[in-house]
Amino acid sequence: MSTSEELVHWSHEQKCRRAVTSLERNGFTAQYCADPAAAAEYILAGAEDAATVGFGGSMSIVSLGVEQLLREQGKDILNHNSPVFTRDEKMEIMRRQLTCDLFLSGCNALTLNGELVNIDATGNRVAAMFFGPRKVIVVAGRNKLVDGTPHDAVLRVKNWATPPNSKRLSFKTPCCTTGFCSDCNSPDRLCRITTIIDRKPRFTDLHVLVVNADMGF
Ligand code: SF4
Repeated sequence: MSTSEELVHWSHEQKCRRAVTSLERNGFTAQYCADPAAAAEYILAGAEDAATVGFGGSMSIVSLGVEQLLREQGKDILNHNSPVFTRDEKMEIMRRQLTCDLFLSGCNALTLNGELVNIDATGNRVAAMFFGPRKVIVVAGRNKLVDGTPHDAVLRVKNWATPPNSKRLSFKTPCCTTGFCSDCNSPDRLCRITTIIDRKPRFTDLHVLVVNADMGF
């Protein structure tokens, strides 16, 4: 790592650690991870007693490469993101994710005050984040941090996460073309459910890993 990279890493570390402190104050189990490998290690350790593991469709989780490792350990993997599944099969997997032992998800935005902000179209991912699964591990790369309010976090999601997500999913939304949110009324609109988790949900063992690396979008 060059000196300038080290300084950038240090600067991001301070923000990540601030978010971890805030998350802990808000009742979550939170962990600073210096790199994605540390996050993968945490997830694999956290999955030891899980028979079923659900995946919320997060690019951050995909980048960790844990799915194949968990599959090799004999876990029942619940991931609806495959073109081989019919719509009904996807729906069934998404329903089963709601009662899995461990649910893995990314986070669209995380404020330095320890608030998790997410926007979904279907809602399966955000629902599983706060009720149903026995344990939830959320991974947030440093690019998801917002030094502001939940409203600022929503703006971050709509301008930086949803446009590339629309493109990835080939949804016909204005932001897919322009890269900016126009608060559309498109039939393909992804922004249908906005959640703010500002304290640990009462009955969900929710862990948040704040990773000092850019992950997903
Ligand atoms: S409201 Fe529409 S244009 Fe705005 S981010 Fe969501 S899908 Fe894109």
